[in-house]
Amino acid sequence: MQDKLYIDGAWVSPAKGGTLDVIDPATERLIHKAPAGTAEDIDRAVKAARKAFDHGPWPKMPGTERAKILRAIAGLITEKREFLARLEVADNGKPLPEALWDIDDVAGCFQFYAGLAEDLENNPEETIPLGEPRFSAKVVREPLGVVGAITPWNYPLLMVSWKVAPALAAGCTIVLKPSELTPLSALELGVIAAEAGLPAGVLNIVTGTGPDAGQPLTEHPLVDKLAFTGSVATGRKVMIAGAQDIKNVSLELGGKSPFVIFADSDIEKAVEWILFGIFWNQGQVCSATSRVLIEDSAYDAVLARLCEEAAKITIGNGLDDGTLLGPIVSKGQYDKILAAIERGKQEGATVAFGGGRAPGFERGYFLQPTVLTDMAEDSFVWTEEIFGPVVCVKPFKDEADAIRMANDSRFGLAAAVMSADLDRAERVARAFRAGIVWVNCSQPTFTEAPWGGYKQSGIGRELGRWGLANYLETKQITRFNSDEPWGWYIKG
Ligand code: NAD
Repeated sequence: MQDKLYIDGAWVSPAKGGTLDVIDPATERLIHKAPAGTAEDIDRAVKAARKAFDHGPWPKMPGTERAKILRAIAGLITEKREFLARLEVADNGKPLPEALWDIDDVAGCFQFYAGLAEDLENNPEETIPLGEPRFSAKVVREPLGVVGAITPWNYPLLMVSWKVAPALAAGCTIVLKPSELTPLSALELGVIAAEAGLPAGVLNIVTGTGPDAGQPLTEHPLVDKLAFTGSVATGRKVMIAGAQDIKNVSLELGGKSPFVIFADSDIEKAVEWILFGIFWNQGQVCSATSRVLIEDSAYDAVLARLCEEAAKITIGNGLDDGTLLGPIVSKGQYDKILAAIERGKQEGATVAFGGGRAPGFERGYFLQPTVLTDMAEDSFVWTEEIFGPVVCVKPFKDEADAIRMANDSRFGLAAAVMSADLDRAERVARAFRAGIVWVNCSQPTFTEAPWGGYKQSGIGRELGRWGLANYLETKQITRFNSDEPWGWYIKG
């Protein structure tokens, strides 16, 4: 485990010598002291990234050359798969099979963007037809510059890869500030990048808290772009800070995603997708299936089966065989989830299953999978992101009622619909005001497809070719091809 920051291709101690306590959420034991960077370290890292962008080889390198390094990074991630996955479990608490899945996706993300880096070189410019025969125009895409990337703790290395892989593919240089709750795997990416031959200064990694390291990064005048994933409250601060220098800002924020289940659905399949949608990763998923809407006539049956199955979920240390629900990432997050459940009860919600600490655990931040019902549409638990294993379930009358309830949210990240009638499912999918819509499933995510939200769930898209576009500037080059004077000053 690393105890230094990765700046300009070297491992350096934080200027102020601070540390971050890394706690295993399953045991509550201190497992490491990670470096805590501050404004001085951010300044050093940004200057290194600036130098690497303005004077280094990376932005001008052919896409095929950058792709070789991205593929080397992917290869090393795959080689260290077990080690990285175990770091994620120790840091975040998630079950090992899910952590392995994440790491495979991280490697896949670097591979995917290696392909897009190659495409950039193969199709570098586009000719634009103009309605003026004396002119010709083309469009070239260029790397945007120095990126300040700030990431959350729920998928520590995966959320990093969604920013670092496309930014590198585009030819940008980066200062990465991962979550202070899960810094371990991000620091290992520095080791991997160096081993893969990434030039010094192209990727700099400064772990530290939001106020001490994140904020100075958002305010640094030499940063061109801020790429942020996290809560709406922090996203707002990032956007305000970025406004000072009119930085390019992309935001992936929270959600309160609805799953509309019509009565013609197969109940067992509906229950399986709800369970996965809200209990996978302990419900700490931005797109989690946190609001389930069930057509009146199927409500009792689906709810009963959901509670029966929730009761069978194996809770435990993420390293134990068979664990489906690990601990919550931190004491702070654990307390917040319990407080949200308490507030839900005070506001009239019924706890249909769970609702508290998992029985039988003396240590660790273990919660029961929780099913809430009977909450009002304007209640806290129905409207606000809980970011834990808590699902809110409500009945609906008809299609119009379901769409109204689903869209009645300040968030618009994801939504899902289940019905045997595919025309209806398509209609509802189109009616959702959300950036990601699943039909007859919920949550599967693919590197090739765009990811991001409507409304307060964010600005911009990650993944796919949209993710690459986040890190590219668009330049038009327009040429006057005539020998005639232009005619404004000198008449021909
Ligand atoms: P958070 O907003 O608390 O922190 C996110 C990051 O911002 C961390 O690295 C933190 O240190 C940093 N930060 C905190 N204050 C800052 C400041 N003033 N300036 C700059 N950086 C600062 O979020 P979190 O608790 O780590 O993550 C959970 C949130 O992330 C949830 O709301 C979830 O929905 C969201 N999320 C969204 C997506 C998505 O793709 N839309 C994916 C994962 C998580």
